[in-house]
Amino acid sequence: MSRRAAGGRLAARWIALDADHWLEGGEIVWSAEGRIVSVRRARKGTRLEDVAVMPGLVNAHVHLQLPALAQRPESFVPWIGAVLAARAASTAADERRRIGAALVALTEEGCLAVGDIDSTGTSTARLAGADMRGRCYRELTGFHLDRAGARALLRERPTLPRSRAATAGGYSPHAPYSVSAELFRAAVATRAPLAIHCAEVPLEQQFLRTGRGPFAELLARLGRLPPGFRAPGMGAVRWLERLGALTTRTQLVHCQELERGDVARIAQSGAAIVVCPGTIEYFGRTPPPVPKWLAAGIPVALGTDSRASNTGLSLRREMARALELWPGLTPVQVLAMATTNGARALCRPGLGRLRPGGHADFCTLPAQATVAATRDAVVASGAMPTAVWVAGTQRVRSARPRR
Ligand SMILES: [Zn+2]
Repeated sequence: MSRRAAGGRLAARWIALDADHWLEGGEIVWSAEGRIVSVRRARKGTRLEDVAVMPGLVNAHVHLQLPALAQRPESFVPWIGAVLAARAASTAADERRRIGAALVALTEEGCLAVGDIDSTGTSTARLAGADMRGRCYRELTGFHLDRAGARALLRERPTLPRSRAATAGGYSPHAPYSVSAELFRAAVATRAPLAIHCAEVPLEQQFLRTGRGPFAELLARLGRLPPGFRAPGMGAVRWLERLGALTTRTQLVHCQELERGDVARIAQSGAAIVVCPGTIEYFGRTPPPVPKWLAAGIPVALGTDSRASNTGLSLRREMARALELWPGLTPVQVLAMATTNGARALCRPGLGRLRPGGHADFCTLPAQATVAATRDAVVASGAMPTAVWVAGTQRVRSARPRR
């Protein structure tokens, strides 16, 4: 392994260009600016490090700033109340501490891009100075907002400016039960990438169809149910389609409760879906049909969601959980969900792969005898990297391989 002022190069036994394409006896060369110059087979006689080089992982849906809950509420609507209370009890300093610790832990495990939901502005400020790639989505809520109110909210909540930071910007109109039609339309009109919690629980679909149930009661309690409100009378995916929110720039998070025709609607729109295995386990939900979605051509990515509905923010753990929840998925598919599909869900298609011109973001792991064994060690067993490189600079180097 050598590093030069003008960049660096690493010759390794295996190099994964992406989940599916691996070089045996490969060499990656990068520039002083941290961009990959070439990634190709090493010349005969080159001394190879006995490691596998892999692209950085992508956690496509996370709330870095949210704390763990002291107690687990019994059902979803009380859970939302508990999250709002925990958020209100957090100071900006608490959030900065949590975000900082999460960025260190993510980098150590070789997760080098996130799709973060920022509900307070703290993440946007923190990520502006970080080298974590991906996208920070400013959260938007307001079921009561009319057109003028929606526009005012967008002016209040700037996203990360383009091309200034490693992290890009976007909006997260939270969910169809917490965002008015006008606020969705205003967010779509910005043409920014969007992250939307969609069809997460049966009550959401019930509320959108009938205007009744616990979500209506919660909104009324919060003073956010507009007088004379009439339900859209259709499920979440059709409603988002009607609002123009299903596009190639959209990621839909969860999609537990899709209805007839929704898979085709999403596939046709080019939107991505993000699933969070830890959250499925936390709430004891039935895993949605991810293999069917992938077969329909939908880019399905992996996220951890927040500490409020997961045991941690480790994407390596989520890969292992994904294999358990969906035994029909192959390790190649799961690794693609944690890399290139995640990049696609964040509208950052250059991430999660190693290609000339891309960022020299990668990690090294102990090489196994075959590509399949090396991939299994990562996907099924959650093997930790021995070293991590961000923009061609080594950030993490452990003395010995860790799990
Ligand atoms: Zn979430």
